[in-house]
Amino acid sequence: MNCLFCKIIDGSISSKAVYQDEQCYAFADIHPQAPVHVLIVPREHIISLADVNDADKPLLGHLVSVAAEIACANRLGKGYRVVVNTGADGGQTVDHLHLHLLGGRQLTWPPG
Ligand code: 5GP
Ligand code: ZN
Repeated sequence: MNCLFCKIIDGSISSKAVYQDEQCYAFADIHPQAPVHVLIVPREHIISLADVNDADKPLLGHLVSVAAEIACANRLGKGYRVVVNTGADGGQTVDHLHLHLLGGRQLTWPPG
């Protein structure tokens, strides 16, 4: 499968690992938008949030709690943001579900 994040997960494209377990892999974004910018991706190739089903609910909960753990490990006690860009209008550019964890600066709202 010609998927960038599947290649990052299998190690054929290098990345800076932040966290990993049997369900997901987290790594530093190559173009960080904040002092902490981590991508949390399921090992399973799921295209987007629009493609999940009932069986994926535990995985989705796991991904969100991993994001919170990574935030804690990075001392983002002042706050952070977890974003899931979905589809063309959502600004998704890699078609493998991923959570962005952003923190370490004051983030603005609304996003662009
Ligand atoms: P999206 O735009 O789909 O929500 O997020 C994709 C993210 O993947 C972007 O923030 C982009 O910087 C990041 N990205 C794209 N290519 C690579 C890569 O080769 N390595 C890493 N670490 N991040 C990447
Ligand atoms: Zn993939």
